[in-house]
Amino acid sequence: MKAIRRFTVRTVLPERLAALEELATNLRWSWHEPTRQLFAGIEPSVWDEIGHDPIGLLGAVSPARLAELADDAAFVERADSLLAELHAYLREPRWYQGLENAPASLAYFSPEFGIAAALPQYSGGLGILAGDHLKSASDLGVPIIGVGLFYRAGYFRQAISRDGWQQESYPVLDPDGLPLRVLRHPDGRAAMVTLALPDGKALYARIWQLNVGRIPLLLLDTDIPENDDDLRGVTDRLYGGAGEHRLLQELLLGIGGVRAIGIYTELTSTPVPLVFHTNEGHAGFLGLERISDLIGAGLSFAEALQVVRSGTVFTTHTPVPAGIDRFEAPMVERYFSTELLPGVDAADVLALGIEAHEGGDPEMFNMAVMGLRLGQRANGVSILHGEVSRGMFGPLWPGFDNADVPITSVTNGVHAPTWTDPLLLELANSKLGTRDTTSADWRSEAVTDGDLWGVRGAMRAQLVTDARRRVTDAWQEQNPGVQAPDWYNDLLDPNVLTIGFARRVPTYKRLTLMLHDEDRLRALLLHPERPIQIVIAGKSHPADDEGKRLIQRLIEFASEPELRNRIVFLPNYDIAMARLLYPGTDVWLNNPLRPLEACGTSGMKAALNGSLNLSILDGWWAEFYDEENGWAIPSSDATDPAERDRLEAESLYDLIEHQVAPRFYDRGDDGVPTRWVQAIRHTLATLSPELSADRMVREYVNRLYLPAAEAHAEITASSYQPARELAAWKARVTAAWPSVSVTHVESGGVDTVPQVGDTLHLRAHVALGTLTPDDVLVEVVYGRARGEDELLDIQRAPLELETHDLGAAATFGGDMTLARAGSFGYNVRVVPRHPLLASSAELGLIAVME
Ligand SMILES: *Cc1c(COP(=O)(O)O)cnc(C)c1O
Repeated sequence: MKAIRRFTVRTVLPERLAALEELATNLRWSWHEPTRQLFAGIEPSVWDEIGHDPIGLLGAVSPARLAELADDAAFVERADSLLAELHAYLREPRWYQGLENAPASLAYFSPEFGIAAALPQYSGGLGILAGDHLKSASDLGVPIIGVGLFYRAGYFRQAISRDGWQQESYPVLDPDGLPLRVLRHPDGRAAMVTLALPDGKALYARIWQLNVGRIPLLLLDTDIPENDDDLRGVTDRLYGGAGEHRLLQELLLGIGGVRAIGIYTELTSTPVPLVFHTNEGHAGFLGLERISDLIGAGLSFAEALQVVRSGTVFTTHTPVPAGIDRFEAPMVERYFSTELLPGVDAADVLALGIEAHEGGDPEMFNMAVMGLRLGQRANGVSILHGEVSRGMFGPLWPGFDNADVPITSVTNGVHAPTWTDPLLLELANSKLGTRDTTSADWRSEAVTDGDLWGVRGAMRAQLVTDARRRVTDAWQEQNPGVQAPDWYNDLLDPNVLTIGFARRVPTYKRLTLMLHDEDRLRALLLHPERPIQIVIAGKSHPADDEGKRLIQRLIEFASEPELRNRIVFLPNYDIAMARLLYPGTDVWLNNPLRPLEACGTSGMKAALNGSLNLSILDGWWAEFYDEENGWAIPSSDATDPAERDRLEAESLYDLIEHQVAPRFYDRGDDGVPTRWVQAIRHTLATLSPELSADRMVREYVNRLYLPAAEAHAEITASSYQPARELAAWKARVTAAWPSVSVTHVESGGVDTVPQVGDTLHLRAHVALGTLTPDDVLVEVVYGRARGEDELLDIQRAPLELETHDLGAAATFGGDMTLARAGSFGYNVRVVPRHPLLASSAELGLIAVME
């Protein structure tokens, strides 16, 4: 029988168990091992069955069991003391509270949040990163308010058909069964966000609140009776639609999100955020809503833009132009030619996002372009990705070298308490006396090689058990009532070198690179003394048939009878699987096409558990590989893609055959691979502090949030006077710039044959048009000269004003010491100068000696 309606009836807990209610509804349980153990202990089999979800567990446990627990003094005391601990955690001063002049409130917007398996509101890396960001912010006391959407079906659930084809289903979530509550006014009415739409329509959304430790997370939901049927579906699925559906989601996230924060801060007397961080471009419209607010307060669009820019941080996550959201300009125009944003002209909106730059399409509205124009501070997510982003977005700052493009980088991190296996945590706790695995002294002799190897083995065995259970469950779902094949019980071997590979399946990640030479792979899997086994997982985007074919090809290979125990594809990659997969693998494999992996975080999670990485030098690995913590697969510079795949696959096989496997199987008398364990210790000791999301969030605070807050405070002082002046100054400088030029450069002080140590005197004649010398910065730019007109290893030094004829030209001069032998070149550049600019490239204006 099909149910026509579904809802969840919440358990009424015995009074003595009241603590469980609060422990279950604050998501801190998702990374607090003692709380998880408390829930698991209530009914271990149900806990596993229900997928580690406290609310689901409490709903499923029998009243008799609850009554029994209520009579169990030890249990009640444990629950009460965990609740007291939670209350202390929520209130006590933490790292952030020790900072000076730190803003009292910040906002973090993301289209997805991966917090716990029980809350499938993520598709992959971007969402998990957002979840980890909130968790670390909570641990560090950073007062963030998170904002996202509540998707009725989240991302899809993956099953694999008998012929290896990915099948998607969208199980509908029941918010009543989740740790959410509706944000309400004091009179009980649900708080509501409204967006005006074309044709006099409106979109309504209610606001769900989750508590992620100390962090409130607000999720907007359009599935309410106030909306027309088609609009109820706006938040139906994560990345479910394209075009207009997607635009509506992003309007709701950005504009509705800021409105939701307004309601939340008012209802809870929380300070209003001053700094807004947008995780990828999807939430970019948030800046427009804030501009509209400021226009209401009396500023012009241009003035409001300065204020918003000062407090906005934009993080870009993709080095692939195809990964960026773009909308047809006329559609965007239609949505903004309404009452949606009072005071804001559609033309001003379009000007922010249109691809007017070289190589762009002026018919397209680009969310990343808008993000960069609405945020004074922007970053990529690894050092290499920062570099790639500066190149990719360089055309937005014509005339500037890529190095000057104002995009920095903050390398991603992962939340250690979430991603460290409890077995390793227990080892740190018992032998090293700390529950913080990222600062534990893993080199200490208090942990023996045997201890570490023992835990690694136990984690591998855990994965093997989980893999057998997953393929058996998947079989039973596909073949109801038919017994699963016997060999499933022998799937994988808890003693064999285990390689993990799991990720989304876009082409650049090259899921099937390992199949390049099937015979070679077969030989590695079946090696008589040094076999390997491979555990694979990953979802293909539902619309990506190419990705699905890759999965199918892999499954086909993995079903060969002599191989099927050694290579397995696990369906439905998610947080629950990931938590066992990373710790259970000895080696984490990643072979993207460099440099298309912006950061990659799965390898970080593996490393936190002592798994060694085997990866192309891309993303985070390019900056952290140190020859002892794993292996680098060399990238080929072959231009033919097939040749490149061949060369990189060969390197991969060679590394496994000649380095990885021999070291893993090189055992002492005690069965411990000493050199391997050394690498594990080295990885844990050196990488885990660097890879932790705490390090990442601290960096965001120190390098981006605090400077943004300071800039925002400065620009809004004296009733926005500095913002008005900056807007007027930018307009004046932009208008005058066509007549700015470097007309002539004189040099002296160096003989015909310059030598190291000589000092070069420079004087530049600069035409300023209507500008004054104070409006500009004149600099000598110098470095190694290569070819006709290229400078490398560029450095800059300012030239000082020497003479100034009113209304005409000025001269600027200075000295430059020749510090290095070899080819040398220099030029002089003029850029706008203003104390409220975060970068000289900000206006995209530059004049150089031609
Ligand atoms: C960490 C994680 C990802 C992202 O991994 P990448 O290496 O960045 O591709 C995707 N899915 C899940 C479930 C994860 O835990």
